[in-house]
Amino acid sequence: MTTKSDILIIGGGPVGLSCAYYLLKSGRKVTILDAKEIGKGSGSGNAGHIVPSHIIPLAAPGVVTSALKWMLDPAHSPFGMKVSLNPNYISWLLKFVFACNEANVQRSIKPLNDLGQLSAKNFAQIVAEEKFDCSYQEKGLLFLYKTEKALHDGQHEGEFMQKHGIPVSVYDKMKIHEVEPAALDDVIGGVHFTGDAHLNPAVFLKLLSDLVRVMGAEVLENITVTGFESANGKITKVKTNTGDFDAEQVVLAAGAWSPSIARDLKLSIPIQPARGYSLTVSANKQMPSHALILGERRIAVSPMGDVLRFTGRLEVGNYSMTPNPVWLQRIENSAREYLRLDEKLDVKETWAGLRPTTPDGVPIIGKSPKHGNLILATGHAMLGLSLGPGTGQVVAELLNGQEASVSLSPMRLERF
Ligand SMILES: Cc1cc2nc3c(=O)[nH]c(=O)nc-3n(C[C@H](O)[C@H](O)[C@H](O)COP(=O)(O)OP(=O)(O)OC[C@H]3O[C@@H](n4cnc5c(N)ncnc54)[C@H](O)[C@@H]3O)c2cc1C
Repeated sequence: MTTKSDILIIGGGPVGLSCAYYLLKSGRKVTILDAKEIGKGSGSGNAGHIVPSHIIPLAAPGVVTSALKWMLDPAHSPFGMKVSLNPNYISWLLKFVFACNEANVQRSIKPLNDLGQLSAKNFAQIVAEEKFDCSYQEKGLLFLYKTEKALHDGQHEGEFMQKHGIPVSVYDKMKIHEVEPAALDDVIGGVHFTGDAHLNPAVFLKLLSDLVRVMGAEVLENITVTGFESANGKITKVKTNTGDFDAEQVVLAAGAWSPSIARDLKLSIPIQPARGYSLTVSANKQMPSHALILGERRIAVSPMGDVLRFTGRLEVGNYSMTPNPVWLQRIENSAREYLRLDEKLDVKETWAGLRPTTPDGVPIIGKSPKHGNLILATGHAMLGLSLGPGTGQVVAELLNGQEASVSLSPMRLERF
Protein backbone atom coordinates (compact mmCIF):
# COMPACT_ATOMS: atom_id res chain seq x y z
CA MET A 1 0.00 0.00 0.00
CA THR A 2 1.26 3.51 -0.78
CA THR A 3 0.46 6.50 1.47
CA LYS A 4 0.26 9.93 -0.20
CA SER A 5 1.32 13.23 1.35
CA ASP A 6 2.14 16.81 0.35
CA ILE A 7 5.46 17.15 2.19
CA LEU A 8 7.24 14.20 3.77
CA ILE A 9 9.90 14.98 6.36
CA ILE A 10 12.43 12.26 7.15
CA GLY A 11 13.56 12.75 10.76
CA GLY A 12 11.70 14.17 13.76
CA GLY A 13 14.60 15.84 15.59
CA PRO A 14 14.88 19.58 16.28
CA VAL A 15 15.40 20.28 12.56
CA GLY A 16 12.61 18.07 11.17
CA LEU A 17 10.09 19.22 13.79
CA SER A 18 10.95 22.88 13.17
CA CYS A 19 10.46 22.38 9.42
CA ALA A 20 7.08 20.79 10.15
CA TYR A 21 6.04 23.70 12.40
CA TYR A 22 6.81 26.43 9.84
CA LEU A 23 5.35 24.44 6.93
CA LEU A 24 2.10 23.83 8.85
CA LYS A 25 1.94 27.52 9.78
CA SER A 26 2.16 28.36 6.09
CA GLY A 27 -0.77 26.06 5.32
CA ARG A 28 1.08 23.00 3.98
CA LYS A 29 0.22 19.38 4.79
CA VAL A 30 3.03 17.48 6.47
CA THR A 31 3.96 13.91 7.31
CA ILE A 32 6.95 13.20 9.58
CA LEU A 33 8.63 9.79 9.58
CA ASP A 34 11.08 8.80 12.28
CA ALA A 35 12.91 5.53 12.85
CA LYS A 36 12.53 6.02 16.61
CA GLU A 37 10.27 7.91 18.96
CA ILE A 38 10.07 11.57 17.91
CA GLY A 39 12.83 13.72 19.38
CA LYS A 40 14.80 10.72 20.61
CA GLY A 41 17.54 10.96 17.95
CA SER A 42 20.26 13.34 19.06
CA GLY A 43 18.10 16.20 20.24
CA SER A 44 16.69 15.30 23.64
CA GLY A 45 19.75 14.90 25.89
CA ASN A 46 21.81 17.78 24.55
CA ALA A 47 22.85 20.87 26.50
CA GLY A 48 19.85 22.93 25.37
CA HIS A 49 22.00 25.97 24.60
CA ILE A 50 20.58 28.43 22.08
CA VAL A 51 23.72 30.14 20.96
CA PRO A 52 23.61 32.77 18.23
CA SER A 53 27.07 33.68 19.58
CA HIS A 54 28.52 30.50 18.01
CA ILE A 55 29.61 32.06 14.73
CA ILE A 56 33.05 30.44 14.53
CA PRO A 57 32.83 27.06 12.78
CA LEU A 58 34.36 23.90 14.23
CA ALA A 59 36.87 23.89 11.35
CA ALA A 60 39.10 26.82 12.33
CA PRO A 61 42.86 27.51 12.45
CA GLY A 62 44.61 25.71 15.32
CA VAL A 63 41.92 23.05 15.77
CA VAL A 64 44.04 20.22 14.36
CA THR A 65 47.02 21.16 16.57
CA SER A 66 44.76 21.42 19.64
CA ALA A 67 43.19 18.04 18.83
CA LEU A 68 46.64 16.42 18.60
CA LYS A 69 47.70 18.01 21.92
CA TRP A 70 44.52 16.87 23.63
CA MET A 71 45.15 13.32 22.50
CA LEU A 72 48.32 13.37 24.64
CA ASP A 73 46.09 13.90 27.69
CA PRO A 74 43.37 11.32 27.01
CA ALA A 75 41.80 11.50 30.47
CA HIS A 76 40.87 15.16 29.97
CA SER A 77 40.63 15.42 26.20
CA PRO A 78 37.34 16.90 25.00
CA PHE A 79 38.07 15.33 21.62
CA GLY A 80 38.45 11.80 20.26
CA MET A 81 38.26 10.03 16.92
CA LYS A 82 37.68 6.58 15.51
CA VAL A 83 40.57 4.86 13.72
CA SER A 84 39.22 3.58 10.41
CA LEU A 85 40.19 3.26 6.77
CA ASN A 86 36.62 3.67 5.55
CA PRO A 87 36.97 5.86 2.40
CA ASN A 88 34.03 8.14 3.35
CA TYR A 89 35.57 8.70 6.77
CA ILE A 90 39.07 9.39 5.40
CA SER A 91 37.65 11.72 2.77
CA TRP A 92 35.70 13.61 5.48
CA LEU A 93 38.80 13.90 7.69
CA LEU A 94 40.85 15.29 4.80
CA LYS A 95 38.13 17.81 3.94
CA PHE A 96 37.97 18.82 7.62
CA VAL A 97 41.75 19.29 7.90
CA PHE A 98 41.81 21.39 4.71
CA ALA A 99 38.93 23.51 6.04
CA CYS A 100 40.75 24.41 9.28
CA ASN A 101 41.90 27.81 8.03
CA GLU A 102 41.09 31.50 8.27
CA ALA A 103 39.35 31.59 4.89
CA ASN A 104 36.83 28.98 6.10
CA VAL A 105 36.17 30.99 9.27
CA GLN A 106 35.55 34.13 7.21
CA ARG A 107 33.23 32.25 4.82
CA SER A 108 31.25 30.65 7.65
CA ILE A 109 30.66 33.60 9.97
CA LYS A 110 27.88 35.21 7.96
CA PRO A 111 25.74 32.10 7.37
CA LEU A 112 26.13 30.95 11.00
CA ASN A 113 25.43 34.45 12.32
CA ASP A 114 22.40 35.06 10.07
CA LEU A 115 20.82 31.67 10.77
CA GLY A 116 21.68 31.89 14.48
CA GLN A 117 20.02 35.29 14.88
CA LEU A 118 16.91 34.22 12.96
CA SER A 119 16.67 31.06 15.03
CA ALA A 120 17.10 32.82 18.38
CA LYS A 121 14.30 35.22 17.43
CA ASN A 122 12.12 32.27 16.40
CA PHE A 123 12.76 30.42 19.68
CA ALA A 124 11.63 33.44 21.70
CA GLN A 125 8.55 33.74 19.50
CA ILE A 126 7.59 30.03 19.64
CA VAL A 127 8.02 29.85 23.42
CA ALA A 128 5.95 33.01 23.95
CA GLU A 129 3.24 32.41 21.32
CA GLU A 130 2.76 28.70 22.00
CA LYS A 131 3.17 29.17 25.78
CA PHE A 132 5.85 26.45 26.03
CA ASP A 133 6.87 25.71 29.61
CA CYS A 134 10.37 24.31 28.92
CA SER A 135 12.73 26.12 31.35
CA TYR A 136 13.53 28.68 28.62
CA GLN A 137 15.79 31.42 29.99
CA GLU A 138 17.35 34.38 28.21
CA LYS A 139 20.30 34.74 30.57
CA GLY A 140 23.12 34.31 28.10
CA LEU A 141 25.93 31.76 28.02
CA LEU A 142 28.71 32.25 30.55
CA PHE A 143 32.22 30.86 30.04
CA LEU A 144 34.15 30.25 33.29
CA TYR A 145 37.96 30.22 33.33
CA LYS A 146 40.52 29.10 35.88
CA THR A 147 43.77 30.02 34.12
CA GLU A 148 45.09 33.35 32.81
CA LYS A 149 45.91 31.86 29.42
CA ALA A 150 42.40 30.46 28.82
CA LEU A 151 40.77 33.66 30.10
CA HIS A 152 42.95 35.72 27.77
CA ASP A 153 42.05 33.48 24.78
CA GLY A 154 38.36 33.65 25.75
CA GLN A 155 38.47 37.45 25.92
CA HIS A 156 40.18 37.59 22.56
CA GLU A 157 37.46 35.37 21.04
CA GLY A 158 34.82 37.55 22.69
CA GLU A 159 36.31 40.72 21.16
CA PHE A 160 36.33 39.03 17.75
CA MET A 161 32.64 38.11 18.09
CA GLN A 162 31.76 41.59 19.32
CA LYS A 163 33.06 42.95 16.01
CA HIS A 164 30.40 40.79 14.34
CA GLY A 165 27.59 42.21 16.44
CA ILE A 166 27.50 39.57 19.21
CA PRO A 167 26.88 41.13 22.65
CA VAL A 168 29.72 40.18 25.05
CA SER A 169 30.63 41.15 28.65
CA VAL A 170 33.99 40.27 30.19
CA TYR A 171 34.16 39.69 33.97
CA ASP A 172 37.11 39.84 36.36
CA LYS A 173 37.35 37.65 39.44
CA MET A 174 35.18 39.82 41.67
CA LYS A 175 32.43 40.23 39.08
CA ILE A 176 32.32 36.56 38.02
CA HIS A 177 31.62 35.49 41.62
CA GLU A 178 28.92 38.13 41.94
CA VAL A 179 27.28 36.99 38.68
CA GLU A 180 27.67 33.22 39.23
CA PRO A 181 27.86 32.34 42.94
CA ALA A 182 27.99 28.61 42.16
CA ALA A 183 31.55 29.06 40.78
CA LEU A 184 34.40 27.83 43.00
CA ASP A 185 36.83 30.38 44.46
CA ASP A 186 39.63 29.61 42.02
CA VAL A 187 37.56 30.60 38.96
CA ILE A 188 39.36 33.81 37.95
CA GLY A 189 37.08 35.35 35.34
CA GLY A 190 34.54 34.83 32.62
CA VAL A 191 33.14 35.86 29.29
CA HIS A 192 29.38 36.27 29.02
CA PHE A 193 27.57 36.02 25.68
CA THR A 194 24.51 37.86 26.87
CA GLY A 195 22.36 37.33 23.76
CA ASP A 196 22.24 33.53 24.20
CA ALA A 197 19.54 31.48 25.92
CA HIS A 198 18.89 27.92 27.07
CA LEU A 199 16.03 25.51 27.67
CA ASN A 200 15.24 21.86 28.40
CA PRO A 201 15.51 20.29 24.92
CA ALA A 202 13.55 17.10 25.69
CA VAL A 203 10.61 19.14 27.01
CA PHE A 204 10.81 21.59 24.10
CA LEU A 205 10.82 18.74 21.53
CA LYS A 206 7.92 16.98 23.26
CA LEU A 207 5.86 20.21 23.26
CA LEU A 208 6.76 20.90 19.62
CA SER A 209 5.85 17.36 18.51
CA ASP A 210 2.51 17.58 20.37
CA LEU A 211 1.88 20.97 18.77
CA VAL A 212 2.60 19.87 15.19
CA ARG A 213 0.19 16.96 15.70
CA VAL A 214 -2.51 19.39 16.86
CA MET A 215 -1.72 21.59 13.83
CA GLY A 216 -2.50 18.60 11.60
CA ALA A 217 0.81 16.84 10.95
CA GLU A 218 0.77 13.11 10.54
CA VAL A 219 3.58 11.95 12.83
CA LEU A 220 4.70 8.38 12.27
CA GLU A 221 7.17 6.89 14.72
CA ASN A 222 9.27 3.72 14.51
CA ILE A 223 9.25 3.73 10.71
CA THR A 224 12.62 3.51 9.01
CA VAL A 225 13.26 4.93 5.55
CA THR A 226 15.08 2.22 3.62
CA GLY A 227 15.36 3.68 0.11
CA PHE A 228 13.75 5.58 -2.73
CA GLU A 229 12.46 5.26 -6.24
CA SER A 230 13.13 8.15 -8.57
CA ALA A 231 12.50 9.10 -12.18
CA ASN A 232 13.20 12.17 -14.33
CA GLY A 233 15.10 13.93 -11.54
CA LYS A 234 12.33 13.49 -8.96
CA ILE A 235 11.75 11.17 -6.06
CA THR A 236 8.66 9.13 -6.88
CA LYS A 237 8.54 6.88 -3.80
CA VAL A 238 9.99 6.84 -0.31
CA LYS A 239 10.42 3.23 0.76
CA THR A 240 10.19 2.22 4.41
CA ASN A 241 10.16 -0.97 6.46
CA THR A 242 6.36 -0.73 6.68
CA GLY A 243 5.41 0.33 3.15
CA ASP A 244 5.86 3.03 0.51
CA PHE A 245 5.08 6.75 0.67
CA ASP A 246 4.32 9.13 -2.19
CA ALA A 247 5.09 12.79 -1.64
CA GLU A 248 5.14 15.94 -3.73
CA GLN A 249 8.18 17.13 -1.76
CA VAL A 250 10.64 15.37 0.55
CA VAL A 251 12.75 16.98 3.28
CA LEU A 252 15.78 15.02 4.48
CA ALA A 253 16.36 16.00 8.13
CA ALA A 254 17.85 12.81 9.50
CA GLY A 255 20.87 14.33 11.26
CA ALA A 256 23.93 12.08 11.40
CA TRP A 257 22.04 9.33 9.53
CA SER A 258 21.42 11.52 6.46
CA PRO A 259 24.40 10.20 4.42
CA SER A 260 23.32 6.55 4.58
CA ILE A 261 19.72 7.44 3.64
CA ALA A 262 20.90 9.60 0.71
CA ARG A 263 23.20 6.90 -0.63
CA ASP A 264 20.27 5.20 -2.39
CA LEU A 265 19.77 8.49 -4.28
CA LYS A 266 23.45 8.47 -5.35
CA LEU A 267 23.86 11.65 -3.34
CA SER A 268 27.08 12.00 -1.40
CA ILE A 269 26.57 13.99 1.82
CA PRO A 270 29.81 14.57 3.75
CA ILE A 271 28.64 14.22 7.35
CA GLN A 272 30.27 12.29 10.17
CA PRO A 273 28.74 11.66 13.59
CA ALA A 274 30.50 13.49 16.44
CA ARG A 275 29.34 11.68 19.54
CA GLY A 276 28.95 13.42 22.88
CA TYR A 277 27.57 12.50 26.29
CA SER A 278 25.33 14.00 28.90
CA LEU A 279 24.74 13.37 32.57
CA THR A 280 21.53 14.75 34.09
CA VAL A 281 21.13 14.96 37.85
CA SER A 282 18.51 16.22 40.31
CA ALA A 283 18.84 19.89 41.22
CA ASN A 284 22.06 20.58 43.11
CA LYS A 285 21.80 22.43 46.46
CA GLN A 286 23.50 25.39 44.82
CA MET A 287 22.24 25.52 41.25
CA PRO A 288 24.26 27.55 38.74
CA SER A 289 22.17 30.51 37.69
CA HIS A 290 23.39 30.46 34.06
CA ALA A 291 24.01 28.08 31.21
CA LEU A 292 27.79 27.64 31.42
CA ILE A 293 30.81 26.44 29.49
CA LEU A 294 33.68 25.34 31.72
CA GLY A 295 36.39 26.92 29.59
CA GLU A 296 39.51 24.77 29.89
CA ARG A 297 37.53 21.49 30.04
CA ARG A 298 34.93 22.33 27.38
CA ILE A 299 32.06 20.98 29.46
CA ALA A 300 28.61 22.52 29.06
CA VAL A 301 26.38 22.99 32.11
CA SER A 302 22.65 23.58 31.90
CA PRO A 303 20.35 24.33 34.83
CA MET A 304 16.89 23.20 33.69
CA GLY A 305 14.38 23.79 36.47
CA ASP A 306 14.52 20.77 38.74
CA VAL A 307 17.45 19.12 36.95
CA LEU A 308 21.04 20.01 36.14
CA ARG A 309 22.79 18.68 33.03
CA PHE A 310 26.48 18.34 32.17
CA THR A 311 27.51 17.57 28.59
CA GLY A 312 30.82 17.05 26.89
CA ARG A 313 33.18 15.19 24.57
CA LEU A 314 33.28 15.13 20.81
CA GLU A 315 34.23 11.76 19.26
CA VAL A 316 34.29 11.76 15.49
CA GLY A 317 33.24 8.75 13.43
CA ASN A 318 31.35 6.48 15.81
CA TYR A 319 27.65 5.70 15.36
CA SER A 320 27.10 3.83 18.62
CA MET A 321 24.77 5.70 20.98
CA THR A 322 25.70 3.91 24.18
CA PRO A 323 26.83 6.31 26.93
CA ASN A 324 30.38 5.59 28.10
CA PRO A 325 30.51 5.47 31.95
CA VAL A 326 34.22 6.37 31.99
CA TRP A 327 33.56 9.63 30.16
CA LEU A 328 30.46 10.39 32.21
CA GLN A 329 32.59 10.16 35.35
CA ARG A 330 35.25 12.37 33.78
CA ILE A 331 32.59 14.93 32.85
CA GLU A 332 31.41 14.98 36.46
CA ASN A 333 35.01 15.27 37.72
CA SER A 334 35.61 18.22 35.40
CA ALA A 335 32.44 19.95 36.57
CA ARG A 336 33.63 19.58 40.19
CA GLU A 337 36.75 21.58 39.28
CA TYR A 338 34.59 24.67 38.68
CA LEU A 339 31.34 24.36 40.62
CA ARG A 340 30.11 23.80 44.16
CA LEU A 341 28.41 20.44 43.61
CA ASP A 342 26.75 18.19 46.17
CA GLU A 343 29.00 15.41 47.41
CA LYS A 344 26.75 12.79 45.84
CA LEU A 345 24.80 13.57 42.69
CA ASP A 346 21.41 11.95 42.14
CA VAL A 347 21.75 10.74 38.53
CA LYS A 348 18.49 10.93 36.55
CA GLU A 349 19.73 10.16 33.05
CA THR A 350 22.86 9.24 31.13
CA TRP A 351 22.81 9.80 27.39
CA ALA A 352 24.85 9.81 24.18
CA GLY A 353 23.98 11.64 20.98
CA LEU A 354 25.50 12.24 17.55
CA ARG A 355 26.24 15.71 16.20
CA PRO A 356 25.82 15.58 12.41
CA THR A 357 29.07 17.28 11.44
CA THR A 358 30.08 18.67 8.05
CA PRO A 359 33.79 19.17 7.26
CA ASP A 360 33.53 22.98 7.19
CA GLY A 361 31.19 23.41 10.18
CA VAL A 362 28.30 24.95 8.22
CA PRO A 363 24.99 23.06 7.80
CA ILE A 364 23.69 21.78 4.48
CA ILE A 365 20.39 23.49 3.69
CA GLY A 366 18.85 23.77 0.24
CA LYS A 367 17.59 21.94 -2.81
CA SER A 368 19.24 18.69 -3.79
CA PRO A 369 21.43 19.17 -6.88
CA LYS A 370 19.98 15.94 -8.32
CA HIS A 371 16.32 15.80 -7.31
CA GLY A 372 13.85 18.59 -7.99
CA ASN A 373 11.57 17.62 -5.08
CA LEU A 374 14.16 17.00 -2.36
CA ILE A 375 15.26 19.56 0.23
CA LEU A 376 18.30 18.86 2.41
CA ALA A 377 18.22 20.18 5.98
CA THR A 378 21.06 18.53 7.85
CA GLY A 379 24.65 18.80 9.09
CA HIS A 380 24.02 21.20 11.98
CA ALA A 381 26.78 19.63 14.10
CA MET A 382 26.81 21.12 17.63
CA LEU A 383 24.07 23.63 16.75
CA GLY A 384 21.12 21.52 15.61
CA LEU A 385 18.84 22.68 18.40
CA SER A 386 20.06 26.25 18.26
CA LEU A 387 19.65 26.55 14.48
CA GLY A 388 16.48 24.41 14.26
CA PRO A 389 13.73 27.06 14.15
CA GLY A 390 15.72 29.23 11.70
CA THR A 391 16.22 26.20 9.46
CA GLY A 392 12.53 25.36 9.71
CA GLN A 393 11.58 28.85 8.56
CA VAL A 394 13.92 28.91 5.54
CA VAL A 395 12.91 25.39 4.46
CA ALA A 396 9.24 26.47 4.55
CA GLU A 397 10.13 29.57 2.53
CA LEU A 398 11.95 27.45 -0.07
CA LEU A 399 9.05 25.04 -0.40
CA ASN A 400 6.58 27.91 -0.73
CA GLY A 401 8.59 29.52 -3.53
CA GLN A 402 9.53 32.54 -1.39
CA GLU A 403 12.92 34.14 -1.02
CA ALA A 404 14.69 32.63 1.99
CA SER A 405 15.16 34.99 4.96
CA VAL A 406 18.90 34.21 4.98
CA SER A 407 21.14 33.54 2.01
CA LEU A 408 21.36 29.80 1.45
CA SER A 409 24.14 29.79 -1.12
CA PRO A 410 26.93 29.19 1.49
CA MET A 411 24.92 26.21 2.75
CA ARG A 412 24.43 24.37 -0.55
CA LEU A 413 25.64 20.77 -0.83
CA GLU A 414 27.46 21.70 -4.05
CA ARG A 415 30.17 23.54 -2.09
CA PHE A 416 31.84 20.17 -1.33
C1 LIG B 1 26.52 16.07 23.93
C2 LIG B 1 25.80 16.96 22.96
C3 LIG B 1 25.45 18.25 23.35
C4 LIG B 1 24.81 19.10 22.43
N1 LIG B 1 24.42 20.35 22.84
C5 LIG B 1 23.78 21.17 21.96
C6 LIG B 1 23.34 22.46 22.36
O1 LIG B 1 23.49 22.86 23.51
N2 LIG B 1 22.73 23.24 21.44
C7 LIG B 1 22.54 22.83 20.14
O2 LIG B 1 22.04 23.60 19.34
N3 LIG B 1 22.91 21.59 19.75
C8 LIG B 1 23.53 20.76 20.62
N4 LIG B 1 23.93 19.52 20.22
C9 LIG B 1 23.73 19.13 18.82
C10 LIG B 1 22.30 18.73 18.53
O3 LIG B 1 21.84 17.79 19.48
C11 LIG B 1 22.23 18.15 17.11
O4 LIG B 1 22.83 19.06 16.23
C12 LIG B 1 20.77 17.95 16.72
O5 LIG B 1 20.18 16.92 17.47
C13 LIG B 1 20.64 17.63 15.25
O6 LIG B 1 19.28 17.71 14.96
P1 LIG B 1 18.65 16.95 13.73
O7 LIG B 1 17.18 17.16 13.80
O8 LIG B 1 19.38 17.35 12.50
O9 LIG B 1 19.04 15.42 13.98
P2 LIG B 1 18.56 14.43 15.12
O10 LIG B 1 18.23 15.13 16.35
O11 LIG B 1 19.60 13.36 15.24
O12 LIG B 1 17.25 13.80 14.49
C14 LIG B 1 17.33 13.00 13.33
C15 LIG B 1 16.19 12.01 13.37
O13 LIG B 1 16.22 11.21 12.19
C16 LIG B 1 15.79 9.91 12.53
N5 LIG B 1 16.25 8.93 11.55
C17 LIG B 1 17.51 8.47 11.36
N6 LIG B 1 17.53 7.56 10.38
C18 LIG B 1 16.25 7.43 9.92
C19 LIG B 1 15.65 6.64 8.93
N7 LIG B 1 16.35 5.79 8.16
N8 LIG B 1 14.31 6.76 8.73
C20 LIG B 1 13.57 7.63 9.49
N9 LIG B 1 14.12 8.41 10.46
C21 LIG B 1 15.44 8.32 10.67
C22 LIG B 1 16.42 9.69 13.90
O14 LIG B 1 15.74 8.67 14.62
C23 LIG B 1 16.29 11.05 14.54
O15 LIG B 1 15.15 11.18 15.35
C24 LIG B 1 24.54 18.64 21.12
C25 LIG B 1 24.85 17.33 20.76
C26 LIG B 1 25.47 16.49 21.65
C27 LIG B 1 25.79 15.09 21.25
